[in-house]
Amino acid sequence: QKAVTILGIPFINCTRSDFETTIINRITQRQNTFVVTANPEIVMYAHAHPDYAALIQSADYVVADGIGIVIGARLLKTPIKERITGYDLFEDLLDWGSQHQKSAYFVGAKPQVIQKLRDVVKKRYPGLVISGTHDGYFTDETEIIKDIKRTDPNMVFVATGYPKQEQFIQRHRTATSGLWMGIGGSFDVLTG
Ligand code: UDP
Repeated sequence: QKAVTILGIPFINCTRSDFETTIINRITQRQNTFVVTANPEIVMYAHAHPDYAALIQSADYVVADGIGIVIGARLLKTPIKERITGYDLFEDLLDWGSQHQKSAYFVGAKPQVIQKLRDVVKKRYPGLVISGTHDGYFTDETEIIKDIKRTDPNMVFVATGYPKQEQFIQRHRTATSGLWMGIGGSFDVLTG
């Protein structure tokens, strides 16, 4: 699909359902995939920080997470088919993972939130293998990356807020040949 570019950020232009089909195929084929879920704050931040803009441009897919992006695209006369939020993708991928015995690693949020996330995921997505979890308040990431390499998850969800989560993914995305996605406050939402 042709991308719609807003302030230099190329957004994938397809429905959530089509996008999920693409992503699921890639996960199944163990293709390394970096998805950025960009809202207007991220686009504005990227506009002011060229390094971060380049990082986002290096992702495999950028989705329009935020009605502001969808409205902006319409005003630029290059409409985007559908808003695709990181949280919706997160829930749908956990659900798919649970049905297909896939594995996921979770990095981010406060220690008590990540603890609760384990319980919620086990209960709601019983077929999903939790490869590991780590809260988002760390200074040394080497142990986390070692653990990701060792467990080789199908999906890695990083919820430490932007720009940290995307920078973390860029540094480490080769640690496992699966999906890497930054999803902001999604762990708080799922456990909240
Ligand atoms: N967070 C984290 N590590 C940090 C700072 C924040 O894990 O060093 C977490 C925080 O606990 C929250 C999420 O990152 O769960 C940020 O959520 P927010 O909705 O603010 O995301 P943003 O819009 O900044 O991407």
